[in-house]
Amino acid sequence: MKAVFKIFFNSVLLALLSITSFSQVNYDDFFTSGTLRIDYYHTGTDKTQQILFKELRKEPYWGGSRTHLIDKFGYGNYMVKVVDTKSEKIIFSYNFCSLFEEWQFTEEAKLTNKGFPESLIVPFPKNEVRIELYSRVFEDNSFGKIYELVVKPDDVFINTEKTVNTEVRKIHYVAEPDKALDLVFIGDGYTKPELNEFYAEVNSTAEFLFSIAPFKDLKDKINIWAVGAVSAESGTDVPQNGIWKSTAMNCNFDTFGSDRYLTSSDFHSIRNYAGLVPCDQICILVNTDVYGGGGIYNFWNITSSKNEYRNEVFAHELGHSLGALGDEYYDSEVSTEDIYNKKTEPYQANLTTLVNFEIKWKDLVSENTKIPTDVNAGNVNVVGAYEGGGYQTKGIYRPYINCRMKALGYEFCPVCQRTLTDVIKYLSE
Ligand SMILES: [Zn+2]
Repeated sequence: MKAVFKIFFNSVLLALLSITSFSQVNYDDFFTSGTLRIDYYHTGTDKTQQILFKELRKEPYWGGSRTHLIDKFGYGNYMVKVVDTKSEKIIFSYNFCSLFEEWQFTEEAKLTNKGFPESLIVPFPKNEVRIELYSRVFEDNSFGKIYELVVKPDDVFINTEKTVNTEVRKIHYVAEPDKALDLVFIGDGYTKPELNEFYAEVNSTAEFLFSIAPFKDLKDKINIWAVGAVSAESGTDVPQNGIWKSTAMNCNFDTFGSDRYLTSSDFHSIRNYAGLVPCDQICILVNTDVYGGGGIYNFWNITSSKNEYRNEVFAHELGHSLGALGDEYYDSEVSTEDIYNKKTEPYQANLTTLVNFEIKWKDLVSENTKIPTDVNAGNVNVVGAYEGGGYQTKGIYRPYINCRMKALGYEFCPVCQRTLTDVIKYLSE
């Protein structure tokens, strides 16, 4: 079985691992048990970007680690830092990607300004902090600051209202949220009478996840939650067919002209539901049988819940949203030559330009494997560097002949498995 993915971008601009200085931060010295959410609009054109602040919110739970507070991976095109203003110490950081940066590659972005709702999610501080947002610079992979905001935790305008009220269920619960990866499933396009279908689909997705590597060996580090969001109408938007449905998270097909690219721009609504439980990863199941999905690093993953390939698509999108993995396919119809700066290494752990292969997966390549590696029958299941990946036939190399990040029906390759395992351990230790 081979399915050709169209563009499931998970990131666009090019990037390299950032060097972060690590110093231990004691969670209880600086943070309480809730989440501080900074809502804003990410606006701009193909060449510009601007952050327009909306509001601060407090959510009741913190789902992340209380031990690992400074990002060590350097993935993604945006970086968030929380600085204690009294000591000027960095007390928390994480990285992510966004829908806005993908939109910047569209024709529309050359013609108009547009804004996308986004939120920054950090543990709720005890004292005054400065939230800094950085964006990756294409030319040299560095991060440049694009926004900062000082937050006082006693600010009376921090909104604590519970905007949505709906049933939540623990589908698989093995550890306290700071000791587990918390996957939060939210349904979109399910009416109240259809909610039982949603819970059944979360159960079967979880069963599939725990049957594949590396998740089957990490079952004791993963909590699964289901948030039963109720939509006014059943289904989802398909703009090219004139179909528009009123749903809780406003998902739609046809994103950026790709019929299978299923996304939502309504991040603040999504976050209202995700904030009802401790959350590390937002997984949205859309009530449709049409093939499609999307996954963006530390943002969300979205999958059709009734298509026959749903589980395979979910696993692929989780590769993007959890592991910041790049697509290993290169037969995309879309010309995306300018996505990667081939003079540097991409941040995606499973793609290389061979500019600095040492920092990639060279340690997993055996001595008698030639780099670059030929695609031939003798090299099936051999870790190497195969030309073709990240939507390009030349100049970008992938670790394995086939992998879930290349096509449906394959396991994650050893490099992708290692990456996902490292991220899950980071979030659960
Ligand atoms: Zn792979």
